[in-house]
Amino acid sequence: MTVKDTICAIATGMGGSGIGIIRVSGNEAISICDRIFSGKKKIADMETYTAAFGNIVDKSDKEKILDEVVVLLMRAPRSYTTEDTVELDCHGNSFLLRKVLELLIREGARIAEPGEFTKRAYMGGRIDMTEAEAVMDMINAEGNAALSASVNQLKGSLRNKITELREGIIYDTAYIESALDDPENYSLDGFSERLEKKVDDSINEIDRLLKTYDDGRILKEGIRTVIVGKPNVGKSSILNMILEEDRAIVTNIEGTTRDTLEEYIHLNGVHLKLIDTAGIRDTSDVVEKIGVEKACENIDKADLVLFIVDGARELDENDERIIKHFSDKTVITIINKDDLERVADTSKLQELLKEAGCVPRILTVSAKEKAGREELSSLISELFIKGEAHYNDQIIISRERHKEALSDAFAALKRVKDSIQDGAPEDFYTIDLMAAYESLGLVIGETLEDDLADKIFSEFCMGK
Ligand code: GDP
Ligand code: ZN
Repeated sequence: MTVKDTICAIATGMGGSGIGIIRVSGNEAISICDRIFSGKKKIADMETYTAAFGNIVDKSDKEKILDEVVVLLMRAPRSYTTEDTVELDCHGNSFLLRKVLELLIREGARIAEPGEFTKRAYMGGRIDMTEAEAVMDMINAEGNAALSASVNQLKGSLRNKITELREGIIYDTAYIESALDDPENYSLDGFSERLEKKVDDSINEIDRLLKTYDDGRILKEGIRTVIVGKPNVGKSSILNMILEEDRAIVTNIEGTTRDTLEEYIHLNGVHLKLIDTAGIRDTSDVVEKIGVEKACENIDKADLVLFIVDGARELDENDERIIKHFSDKTVITIINKDDLERVADTSKLQELLKEAGCVPRILTVSAKEKAGREELSSLISELFIKGEAHYNDQIIISRERHKEALSDAFAALKRVKDSIQDGAPEDFYTIDLMAAYESLGLVIGETLEDDLADKIFSEFCMGK
């Protein structure tokens, strides 16, 4: 067994909740905790999966009692990380929690990196890669649909699908290799036709999985929605109207919304992650400029852009400058301040949008009178029609890494298909079959050699 350092972190959310759990994991977890813990007996003498009361004491400060805690002990390997794990249930106040962490660090633990507990669970063989990622997604899940997709993945449905595909591939590879070694017992007559059909099926399966990627990401994160527009057009007011509350600060001083603000909201069954940005305009103000750059960055990453125009002002070069960033983005243009006299020229706007290369979808609202919210939400859900129910039983991929690995597998199987159609000899197929197998393995974090050897030797060559 390798010696790993001991990690610690606050395991609960940092909100104002009543309790804060600090998790400590690693070979030294028990001894480190014993050095800051004072209870009826030492943690080292506790049975696994038992809890005890006690105090956290600072031995360098006259045994000063920092907090009254409950400790829970889970000995290796029956813990989440498969390592010795101690959980300290403290009294939630973030100052105290930090203080306890400091003591743990002084005694030799270090702060865990994000996801490191789950990484150790994976390294310890307790969960596979897709499960590890599902846990991470679950921790981050914002909506119920995302949660249920994570749970599905956690249950291993993606893993099962991938495993099934890999088994098919490994079987065929093993068959080819056996046939080449031992033609008397394994015939390749008609094999190519059968293989081509199977490869086709696999290609289609993978293609289907790949197509779920955008849905998957959107499901996990929400539709990344960026609200842009020059200062004072009413971005914050519209954000509030959508959220139906007064969360963003609305002011008539230009450039108030400097830091971007993120909000999550469900509209007609779609899940939006709203990002409010500073107004885009030419400016010498440094702080404002950072905000402006951020807005452009945000447009690049957006699934949906809500472009706000002030209906009571002429369109100007600031509006045009923003429009130039749109290109092929999905943009909804919102003419605000419909309660005032219309000055902005709609047909000019339409023209500019077309020139920039995006479909002009223009809505008129008044944030002040809260008019137009319904139209906006139905337009958004029309654009992203997939209601949540849609995803429930489907295996979806939501990770860039999965997408890449699946794309590689897809390409490799296409090459197999080409070789078959070109009438290439069978041993040609195996290289690409194995490439596909390996890429698929990356999705579930498995390596190549072991299974191949197992399969070939157990099912074919040996025992003959
Ligand atoms: P932002 O800088 O784009 O975020 O704009 P704000 O939301 O801060 O609004 C700028 C000013 O326009 C404020 O004084 C708002 O009260 C006003 N405003 C926003 N929406 C409307 C509207 O629909 N009608 C009118 N008359 N004023 C509005
Ligand atoms: Zn604002």
